[in-house]
Amino acid sequence: MNYGEYDIRYLKGVGEKTARLYNKLGIFTVDDLIRHYPRKYLDYGNTVSVKDAPPDTPVFIKATMITPVKESMIRKGLTLYKCNFSDGETVIRVTIFNNKYLAKALRTFDDYILYGKVEKTFTSASMSSPQIERADKAEVHPVYPTTEKLSVKAISNSVRNALALVGKIPETLSDDILKKYDLVSLDFATRQIHFPTDEKNVEPARHRLIFDELLTLQLGLLKLKEKDVKGNSCKIKKDFTNEFYSLLPFTPTGAQQRAVADCIEDMQSDRMMNRLIQGDVGSGKTAVAGAVIYTVIKNGAQAALMAPTEILATQHFESFKKLFASTDVRVALLTGSVKAGEKKEIKRALCNGEIDLIVGTHALIQNDVEFENLGLVCTDEQHRFGVQQRANLAMKGDNPHLMVMSATPIPRTLGLIIYGDLDISLLDELPPGRQEIRTDVVTSAYHKRIYKFIRDAVDRGEQAYIVCSLVDEGESDLISAKEYADNLAKNEFVGYSVGLLHGKMKPAEKDKVMQSFAEGETQILVSTTVVEVGVDVPNATVMLIENADRFGLSQLHQLRGRVGRGKNKSYCILVSDNKSDSSRERLQVMKHTSNGFDIADYDLKSRGPGDFFGKRQHGLPDLKIADMLEDTETLRQCRECALKMLESDPRLDGYPELCERINNMFRKTDY
Ligand code: ADP
Ligand code: MG
Repeated sequence: MNYGEYDIRYLKGVGEKTARLYNKLGIFTVDDLIRHYPRKYLDYGNTVSVKDAPPDTPVFIKATMITPVKESMIRKGLTLYKCNFSDGETVIRVTIFNNKYLAKALRTFDDYILYGKVEKTFTSASMSSPQIERADKAEVHPVYPTTEKLSVKAISNSVRNALALVGKIPETLSDDILKKYDLVSLDFATRQIHFPTDEKNVEPARHRLIFDELLTLQLGLLKLKEKDVKGNSCKIKKDFTNEFYSLLPFTPTGAQQRAVADCIEDMQSDRMMNRLIQGDVGSGKTAVAGAVIYTVIKNGAQAALMAPTEILATQHFESFKKLFASTDVRVALLTGSVKAGEKKEIKRALCNGEIDLIVGTHALIQNDVEFENLGLVCTDEQHRFGVQQRANLAMKGDNPHLMVMSATPIPRTLGLIIYGDLDISLLDELPPGRQEIRTDVVTSAYHKRIYKFIRDAVDRGEQAYIVCSLVDEGESDLISAKEYADNLAKNEFVGYSVGLLHGKMKPAEKDKVMQSFAEGETQILVSTTVVEVGVDVPNATVMLIENADRFGLSQLHQLRGRVGRGKNKSYCILVSDNKSDSSRERLQVMKHTSNGFDIADYDLKSRGPGDFFGKRQHGLPDLKIADMLEDTETLRQCRECALKMLESDPRLDGYPELCERINNMFRKTDY
């Protein structure tokens, strides 16, 4: 019986309410709880005397309870329990709030360990709501990440119950592997990471669990890529690149031509194409995709272009429709908001080969979408898609060529993991005539001047974006985009047309707003970060970003890339009242650097990987304990180990538990 899959409510002491708190932490099953690892440990054996306790720092004090608990009800819902302890030199007055259970358990003249901050006066000391343990239980305690209402102690009790319930955890790896990589058993690691009997067991335990997690990830990714080794089922016979170039209103850059040539060469080879086109915002990835798509279609196959948002999909659809207007290429759009009847018709036509290029969002990877002869899948802004989603689309049709486009620079070690054996073409050259976008960092004291600057730009016939912080987050201290836009329309921008775009709008509404901006009808577009990816309105020349310090630098760079796409001089104005040195320095980097890769590097160094990965930019499953940037050596070992395992046992028949873990890990990547 595998108790690990049981609902968390199955555990003693976990009712409906507690279960909901656990759910908030992403914990649904007993297994989830077992993988909820401590953030750090408190060693209750590590005590100091009150005399030596530093101010404002939590410490452990070993003390005897010297007076019985006095209870006083301050008001309904607030009961104080007071009693005195002594560490042999100093009396400590302890106050406990509301915790009746704890107060009742204390016994006068028994020894305890108190954990918390000590406040000292000349004559005595006091502690407010310290954690209290019996001295004979002075061991290492785990500290768990938690939410307000769920105590660390409650989690620790549940974990104890969970570990007792599941019994001995079966070993997932062979003795050879354990020995080769110097790993402790999974059972030992799991128990020690929660309740170390000795602090020196923590590191080996952690190492084993990190290894497991990264190995599971690697095996999963490698299995997803199995299809890569298949032969080329859609071999390109003739190159139509030049014919496509003649459709373009511009001459492609050298970098674009090289990237296209790479793709064509791949598709003419004996293997399927698996290529990442990596290029900064504005480097012209769409045209590269266009050339490849065109060639595939002219060779008789269908192509799919998948974008992360409806706006972007719609824009790609419109521009390809225009571009291909003089050709016989048939283009269609399939997004979530296409009407049911129309959807049905598109699906039918796709299945019968009456559509050559389908542009769309996630709707494209639904099960009921079938192709007659899918030869190429192209995903734009790839990092927004989960690996699983990419794989889903690739499984449609008979193993199509795969091309992914991304503006997000990813550190090399990671690229290897996420993209595996994807080949990479770099677009390291911007189209000619691009002017540097002038970037300024100012405080909100400059608002009046900025608004005048925007009015002047609009009076010249140009357009402006204003990005203000997230409506979605509902942060009360920030003006919501809607209020902000209403206010501007009534005051600073009376007589101008102001549009609003935010994440809570329905896709069709968003499209309408974006369309109106793209056509120049809306002059000033106030939005949350939904404009971030890919949208192209060359007439927009001003990008104003409020509370700029709240964004990651790479995100700011993407936003800035929305302007400077046409012939007119463009400006990016970053408003921030954050006076901290680090924030100022970060924004100054934006002013002085226009290279996305440099900016990402800086971002990574200054904010750390947590932030980079916190936004799930990589599209990989969540990791509970491993850190892909920190644990690179383990990552390397796991890759080596995974390749070996698959070599000798391609279906992993000898590792049933591991297979289950892989499935579990990848099942959860559905965003
Ligand atoms: P991204 O790489 O950010 O997706 P796009 O493909 O949207 O960039 O291209 C940005 C803008 O540059 C578009 O307006 C596009 O028409 C234009 N563009 C692309 N390539 C060239 C080129 N070689 N010469 C001039 N303009 C180009
Ligand atoms: Mg793009």
